[in-house]
Order: sequence, then C-alpha cells, then structure tokens
Amino acid sequence: MTTIYYERDADLSVLEGQSVAVVGYGNQGRSWALNLRDSGLAVEVFTQADASRDQAQAEGFAAHEIEAASDCDVICTLIPDDVIPELPIAPKPDALWVLASGYVAAFDRIAPDCDVGMVAPRMLGREVRECFLEGVGFITALGIDKDRTGTALARTLAVGRALGGLRQGAIDMTPRQEAVLDLAVEQVLAPAMGRVSASFVALMLEAGIPLEAVMAELVLSGEIERSYRLLRLEGYAGQMRYHSPTSQYGQLSRANRYDGLDVPTAMREVLTEIESGKFADEWDAERAAGYPNLERLRAEKLSPEVVAFERDLRVRLGERAEAPAR
Ligand code: NDP
Repeated sequence: MTTIYYERDADLSVLEGQSVAVVGYGNQGRSWALNLRDSGLAVEVFTQADASRDQAQAEGFAAHEIEAASDCDVICTLIPDDVIPELPIAPKPDALWVLASGYVAAFDRIAPDCDVGMVAPRMLGREVRECFLEGVGFITALGIDKDRTGTALARTLAVGRALGGLRQGAIDMTPRQEAVLDLAVEQVLAPAMGRVSASFVALMLEAGIPLEAVMAELVLSGEIERSYRLLRLEGYAGQMRYHSPTSQYGQLSRANRYDGLDVPTAMREVLTEIESGKFADEWDAERAAGYPNLERLRAEKLSPEVVAFERDLRVRLGERAEAPAR
C-alpha cells in the first residue's frame, strides 16, 4: 500500500532555528510564504522583480535578491519549472532544497549537492492560501530526491505540515512519479477530454440545440462542477443516488459504448514522450528559442475571437449574467 503521511508524522521542531527561503512570490510563492510564516517558520522572500519584492515587503517579509537565498537552511523554489535550473542559487551542503513539483529532479535539470525534497500541492497557488486559512488544507505529493544529511524526510515533512499539505494526507511519491502524473494530466488527459467535449458540442449543434444551452450543460450551469464535487466527497457509487433513475439507467446502460475506441494508443504515445524526457527537451528548446511555438499556439487556440466569445457568453448566461435592458 502506498504510504500516506498525516500531520502526526511531521514534527515542526526539526526546523527550529532554521532559516527558510521562499524564492519567487507568484501563485505558489506568496501562499507558501504566508502559510509557512503563520505556522511559525522563519521565512524570508527572495525575488527578481521589484514589484514582487515590494509586495512581499508590504506583506511584512524581509525580501532580497535571489542569490542571497544560498545562505538559507531551507530553500523553497516557487518559480516556473523551466526557470529553476537557471537560478543563481548555490545551497550549503546541509541545506534542504524544496521543490513544489517533481519536474526538475525527474528530468535531471538540477543536481545540487544538498538534500532535495518535494512538497507538491495538488492545488492551485492561490487556493493553497485559502485552504490553509479555511483550515481544510489540501492533498500533496511528498517525496525525497536526495538525502545527504539524513534529515531530508523529517525536514520535508515539516515543511509540508507547515504549508497545510498534511491535513488531508500527503501521498509518498518520487519526484519522477509526480512529474509524469502531472504532465500526463496536462498532456494526455486534458486534450482527450477537450476532444470529447468538442465532438459533443459539434454533435449537439448538428441536432439543432442552441450553443448557449450546450455550453450551459458543459460549463456555465456549474452542474458538472457540483457533480464532480459529489464524486470527490462520496465516490462514484455514492453520488449515483443523486441522479434520477432515468439518468442512472442511461449512464449505466451506455457506459461501455466507447470501449472500441483506441484511446489508449494515442495516450501511450504522449506518455512515452513524457517518460523518455522528449517533452522536457522540447520544452527546453522552446525556452531557448524564446517560446515561438507557445506564442503561436496561444494565438491559434486562445485567439481574441475566442476570448471575446467566452466573455460575451458569460455576460449573458451564468453566475455573472446581466439581463439586458428591454
Ligand atoms: P508563477 O508563474 O506564479 O511564477 C512564480 C515566480 O517566478 C514569479 O513570482 C516570478 O517572480 C518568478 N520568476 C519567473 N521567471 C523568473 C526568472 N527568469 N528568474 C527569477 N524568477 C522568475 O509560478 P507558480 O507559482 O505557478 O509555480 C511555481 C512552482 O509551483 C512550479 O514548480 C510549479 O510546477 C509548482 N506548482 C504550481 C501550481 C499552480 O497551481 N500554479 C500547482 C502545484 C505546483 P517575479 O515576480 O520576481 O518576476
């Protein structure tokens, strides 16, 4: 059975007297700095830009240039994964470098001569703060890449607990497992779900259903979101009782209709690119070239027309709808 760590498995006192660097003050960085400080750790912030340094200072942190993080005992790098290898940080041999994602360790993009641990929240950066304040915490993936001092796990668990990442349980995972899963959700699952949704929209339009109604079903009504919430809280079998008998019969009797589709082959191909490091090499080359393909893809798939359509639809339908004057 996979090990799951809880708050009782972590002892904050192992970080007593240790200086904690939060590098980056973006989505995750700000939440990490605030949560770790509220849990009693001695946090300082290290950033490149004046604006984020000003914000950190305004929120009561001592803030410095990134290089200065090298002197700290615990260094949490909350920086985009493709940038982490470029950081001008030289940790002390007894330091603990904490990653919020397994990516750079999984694909050997960094190899510091110190402890390396991972506390990867299964939660958006901003929500890491909100969930901490609400007291509910969030699930994390937690693991060790390198244990030079013999204290890597104890210190990583303490960071995870101080962050709020042990309240719901932290899954023991290697950075490689975390990175493969994370990238697979983005590159294997999300595009497949997108294709399914696009086919469904096209089919419903063909059947003469208004686009607004289809979008309401898929997104705007929030029904699917709430169904997923019930799925999270009660499980697939448990939530089924909230669906009408007609719905239950329809869902269950048609559940195997797509079994003949060869989805696994396409999925395996993308997964192989992740596992072999081909994607990480491609992403490095993309960064070195100044992100030309990312810009092209954004222009194609997130075009001004798409943005305008989505904004207009939300003004007319859903939580933020405004009825036009008659
Ligand atoms: P952000 O995009 O919010 O960026 C974080 C910070 O990185 C910014 O504040 C920026 O600082 C700094 N930064 C960007 N480029 C550079 C650079 N060239 N040199 C120095 N600093 C730079 O990142 P996230 O918070 O989203 O991600 C941070 C880590 O958390 C990643 O490892 C990611 O995988 C992980 N993670 C993210 C999740 C999320 O929901 N976003 C979920 C789980 C894990 P400045 O303002 O000073 O420019």
